[in-house]
Amino acid sequence: MFDQKYPFKLAPLPYAYNALEPFIDEVTMHLHHDKHHQTYVDKLNAAVANQPALHQKTLSELVANLPAVPEAARAAVRNHGGGHLNHSFFWPLLKKDTSCAGEIAAALSQHFGSVEKFKAGFTEVATTLFGSGWAWLVMESGKLKIITTANQDSPLSAGQIPLLTVDVWEHAYYLKYQNRRPEYVEAYLKVINWQKVNELYLAAK
Ligand code: MN
Repeated sequence: MFDQKYPFKLAPLPYAYNALEPFIDEVTMHLHHDKHHQTYVDKLNAAVANQPALHQKTLSELVANLPAVPEAARAAVRNHGGGHLNHSFFWPLLKKDTSCAGEIAAALSQHFGSVEKFKAGFTEVATTLFGSGWAWLVMESGKLKIITTANQDSPLSAGQIPLLTVDVWEHAYYLKYQNRRPEYVEAYLKVINWQKVNELYLAAK
């Protein structure tokens, strides 16, 4: 997905819309994927359409090197390219009934004290992030870190390798959780695809 080039396309969800019930509801998944994510894709395509030099670049290349994007398209690539990339990364990392195991579990224990302490630290950051954005587990210079990005900014723009993320824009949770972001984040922790996180960790190492 990250090596997509213009014209960008929205991939179907890799599972049913109700696959994450009751933690993330079916109606939210329809709106979030089919409407919100689709809009990022459409607006990214509109912004890049008249920039032929950008048609050779992958989505990752565009977002990782924003200064190389002509100023006329830079804000749109940052916002909508970031939106397309972040959501494309987010969907496959959601799955019910996996457990944190393997090398990622050992690494989280080593860096944060325990997997539970990592979850507590991640929850704190995700629930207190002001406004719209994302909380992430990333690798930077070989070290694991919990970070946030505002709006649709991507860790790739800062040279960080994303391993796990939660979307804390209100559109991600408002229908079911309204203003109760902490409940949504608690539910999110139950649908992390740890197998996939472990694969990303091994690849990043
Ligand atoms: Mn979103």
